[in-house]
Amino acid sequence: MTTQRTLSILKPDVTRRNLTGKINSLIEDTGLKIVAQKRLKLSLSQAQAFYSVHKKRSFFNDLINFMISGPIIVQVLEGENAVATYRDKMGATDPKKAAPYTIRAQFAESIEANSVHGSDSLKNASVEIRFFFSEIEINA
Ligand code: ADP
Ligand code: MG
Repeated sequence: MTTQRTLSILKPDVTRRNLTGKINSLIEDTGLKIVAQKRLKLSLSQAQAFYSVHKKRSFFNDLINFMISGPIIVQVLEGENAVATYRDKMGATDPKKAAPYTIRAQFAESIEANSVHGSDSLKNASVEIRFFFSEIEINA
């Protein structure tokens, strides 16, 4: 058994369409527990810092503008193999390529407005969780 934590973000296309509860339900169906959660609006510099690994990518400016276009929900998910479990439930980046049971296949609007972010490694999970949460805000 490997209990892990991962960072999840419900993106602005989710809050705009009032889908937070529906997506949280899919997350909880995986067995992962939402052990921290808050709704906030990223500033331009916060969004650029969070996505700095993508700054050379062609879609970077569009991605940043999308991520600051409305409120987001940031969450810590905890459970068995949380990083891979959540990546699997999220589905492929491009919702057209995502398996039917995934969040992106069911809810994403486009490859950019694809509803959810999830950390892609245990190391990045730790960095990303610390970006948004202090330890007293995370309660299993
Ligand atoms: P993932 O979120 O699946 O880990 P990436 O880390 O590669 O995907 O990309 C980060 C985010 O950038 C994606 O979730 C999506 O919102 C956006 N994105 C990725 N590729 C594209 C693209 N080709 N065009 C527009 N936006 C993109
Ligand atoms: Mg990624």
